Amino acid sequence: MAGKKASPTKIVILGGGYVGMYTALRLQAKLKAAEASVTVIDPQPHMTYQPFLPEAAAGSIEPRHVVVPLRRTLKRCHVVTGRVAKVEHDKHTVTVDMAEGHVEKLEYDVLVAALGSVARTLPIPGLADQGNSFKTVGEAIFLRNHVLSRMDDASSMADGERRRRLLTFMVVGGGYAGIEALAELEDMARYATRYYKTIKPSDLQWILVEATNRVMPEVSPRMGVYTVERLEERGIKVFLDTRVDDMTGGDVRLSDGTTFATDTIVWTAGVKANPVLAETDLPRDERGRVRCTADLRVEGLTGVWAAGDCAAVPDLSKTEQDPNATCSPSAQHAVRQAKQLADNLVASLRGRQPAPYRHKYAGSVASLGLYKGVADVYGIKLKGFPAWFMHRTYHVSRMPTFNRKARIVIDWTLALLFRREVISMGQLQEPKAEFARAASK
Ligand SMILES: Cc1cc2nc3c(=O)[nH]c(=O)nc-3n(C[C@H](O)[C@H](O)[C@H](O)COP(=O)(O)OP(=O)(O)OC[C@H]3O[C@@H](n4cnc5c(N)ncnc54)[C@H](O)[C@@H]3O)c2cc1C
Repeated sequence: MAGKKASPTKIVILGGGYVGMYTALRLQAKLKAAEASVTVIDPQPHMTYQPFLPEAAAGSIEPRHVVVPLRRTLKRCHVVTGRVAKVEHDKHTVTVDMAEGHVEKLEYDVLVAALGSVARTLPIPGLADQGNSFKTVGEAIFLRNHVLSRMDDASSMADGERRRRLLTFMVVGGGYAGIEALAELEDMARYATRYYKTIKPSDLQWILVEATNRVMPEVSPRMGVYTVERLEERGIKVFLDTRVDDMTGGDVRLSDGTTFATDTIVWTAGVKANPVLAETDLPRDERGRVRCTADLRVEGLTGVWAAGDCAAVPDLSKTEQDPNATCSPSAQHAVRQAKQLADNLVASLRGRQPAPYRHKYAGSVASLGLYKGVADVYGIKLKGFPAWFMHRTYHVSRMPTFNRKARIVIDWTLALLFRREVISMGQLQEPKAEFARAASK
């Protein structure tokens, strides 16, 4: 008599970003339905390709094209749109906050933690009220509309304190996210001045504040200096070795005593592991990241895996110099770890040994606005147009799905053929305002 057929292993993936989506994509290709079911939980119905957010903010790419719909891409997985609130590994359950206050408990056999990171903040007065992060497509579009609507408001004002405040924009943090956000938004705003009779490019004041003595730690010091020089050539004020001490009400005071007022503060001063991990019984390091072994298993647990910004994964390419080195939070590691994680998970389900993750950080490419860039990849250093071109070709090649690749290339082609779109869709920020006004009369 044949034995009872084992039911498929329930794999639950927390987070549908880089690691979550790429892992699920590979698992759905490799595993048969009889072997396992894969569930992906994320509050958003899409993965966000974050390196393209600055271009989405600048209007070079349609915002919808920098996100990848999870349900369309992960056809053989279950997609749950909800926010993970708790993990009880001792009971093998995940608690998920769904829409409308409804709570669900999901059981799993195998868990993948891919919850990414959030902005790392500091106790600076005014930061919570005045700061904007730059990690989601909503924030990128908000900032685009916000910058353009400050210009709309300032255009009908006589010169004075209020106008200067509207036309002053500050970015805090000089990593790739901050530099690209600053460079793309400044480029867009300068281009937009041609449509404002009363605003000259020199009326705009862009400020970068960085606490260390250099920008873009992902590229060589020489390329960091080059980046600062290019930004300063454009009139951007770069403060290195400087902290923001206060930003209450938008009145900014820097540690060197400089003061100015602004309506726009972009906070890109680093990331920390998703704080929801504190609501789990997974082991974490002193930085709140899930502790992993080099094969991406969570230390001391069976059937739990983790990768990406939320995980402390040993960096085997550096362990000779520093035995405690862990991989930096980057898309470069996230994508490769996802591939290794999926392969290891399949191997362990099929009774084979998982392999360690090893990747030597290749360097970085960054766009500094249209036709401008900086690149330092495998020791090859490029500047200006070649770097910008490399940035575009590299990222479009990495963008998941042919559909998204094609749409982005079409966006770029249209942007070459026609003038840049620099209209503020400020109404998106308050969609009910018009109707509320009409209804109140
Ligand atoms: C503007 C910008 C530019 C960047 N440019 C580069 C670059 O050029 N090169 C590079 O290597 N890296 C770059 N990065 C970094 C890179 O995008 C990240 O390192 C990468 O996204 C990490 O992948 P991840 O899967 O760990 O996290 P994410 O991709 O952030 O995915 C985490 C997922 O978890 C979800 N989530 C959050 N909370 C919950 C919850 N409670 N329950 C369920 N799901 C949840 C989120 O919605 C998200 O989908 C950039 C980042 C930014 C913000």
